Amino acid sequence: MVDLNSWIKHGDEIRRPLIVNHDITKSNKVVIVGAGLSGLCTAFRIAEKRPDIEIILVEKSNRIGGVIETWKQNEWICDVAVNATRNHPAFWRLIDDLGLENKFNSSNPKAKSRWVIINGKKHKLSVFSLLKIGPIKLFSSLKKSRAGGFSVAEVLPNKQIADALTLGIVNDTSENVDADFLIPSITKFGPNPPLKKSKLNSLISKSYPLFKPKKGSLASLDGGMETLIFALENKLSNLPNVRIVLNCNTDSPESISQDYGIPESSIIWCAKNPENNIEFTELSVFVIGFSAKSVQNIKLGYGTLIPDKSLPISGILHESDVHVSKRSPEGHRLFRLMVPHNRWDMREDSVLECAEKLLGDNPVLFSKIGQRKIPRYKPGHLSSLYPKSSNYSALGWTVSGVSITHVVDESERISELFET
Ligand SMILES: Cc1cc2nc3c(=O)[nH]c(=O)nc-3n(C[C@H](O)[C@H](O)[C@H](O)COP(=O)(O)OP(=O)(O)OC[C@H]3O[C@@H](n4cnc5c(N)ncnc54)[C@H](O)[C@@H]3O)c2cc1C
Repeated sequence: MVDLNSWIKHGDEIRRPLIVNHDITKSNKVVIVGAGLSGLCTAFRIAEKRPDIEIILVEKSNRIGGVIETWKQNEWICDVAVNATRNHPAFWRLIDDLGLENKFNSSNPKAKSRWVIINGKKHKLSVFSLLKIGPIKLFSSLKKSRAGGFSVAEVLPNKQIADALTLGIVNDTSENVDADFLIPSITKFGPNPPLKKSKLNSLISKSYPLFKPKKGSLASLDGGMETLIFALENKLSNLPNVRIVLNCNTDSPESISQDYGIPESSIIWCAKNPENNIEFTELSVFVIGFSAKSVQNIKLGYGTLIPDKSLPISGILHESDVHVSKRSPEGHRLFRLMVPHNRWDMREDSVLECAEKLLGDNPVLFSKIGQRKIPRYKPGHLSSLYPKSSNYSALGWTVSGVSITHVVDESERISELFET
């Protein structure tokens, strides 16, 4: 039974399993593998609670931040991976504790609209989109999903709407995505809260530090998500019990255990787990910029999802509309294009042609800014993790949650085990 305080602190994240070896709390030296957001947050949260524990954060590459990176060219700014956060008190607590409150803003309330292109036509997404499925059909599939292990396509039986949702979050089509993983509060995966959802939500919203976010809003950082990574790096470098080791070439818990003279139970694996054979999809990320005048017919909004496999672009994000901090030079607009490799001929011209058709001609900027792999969370993924014992602890987006609110909250959850 999970207590009410934990529900208030972590909300529906509590439904997700924490893959932890409880002997970790007996360690006086902890090695965290992977310096992406989850490794950095976990190091920060444990180190601030327990200055008596030595923490070594090992990273395979020559930089920290993992998939998070912000591209900058003159006054154009765009995140390659995550660009904004959904509401969750754990993220607000992190911003507060890092002293980033002056750089953290709610997204532009006028840029909330989302659209979906179905059969060449653009539709505004709203709760009414779900009614297209048919309320009775939707109700019965939601009820059925409580048994666990279903795909998102089975739970939301309208392929195009379901695909739009899953492509926008995990770059995969809905029949390949675990509904328990993506929408656990809807499938009612894991434990249920001890009081009504509306009462719990009201208690959660009172727990936000800094400011109470509006329902459905997003928030982002001046200068992009790299601002968060730099702040974490700065904090960690000032904590005497933390050491970051870059270019570390170990790929198994056994070798980490030998190299650092610790039992495997003292390892927190925040990278692709060497034991699970999780697959990845791949996508490229492009930016396209226009003078505001030349795209004045494009409504202010969050973005457009494109489940249509015949087009190389699966999503367009209105970067300069959404963020309060500047993402483009004055009088210009910036859009980010998501291009899954399984529907692209790998020619940049095809992306440009498609973007010009969807947005407009004569861009003043067009560039590929990065390429990323996204874990696949196949139906049954979350139930396969729960309950599970492990020789070492394993966190991060290759385990039980895809979003940054998940990895930030999970770091808090594991650090709570260290409270003396
Ligand atoms: C294109 C894209 C868009 C996204 N959009 C959103 C969004 O809108 N909202 C949202 O909430 N989330 C979004 N995300 C997800 C978000 O970015 C991730 O949840 C988060 O950044 C994952 O952090 P992580 O530390 O778990 O993993 P990673 O960032 O993958 O970090 C893992 C680290 O481990 C290192 N590593 C790997 N193997 C080893 C080894 N053997 N030894 C040592 N180090 C190793 C890697 O080099 C890497 O630095 C997006 C992601 C992508 C790619």
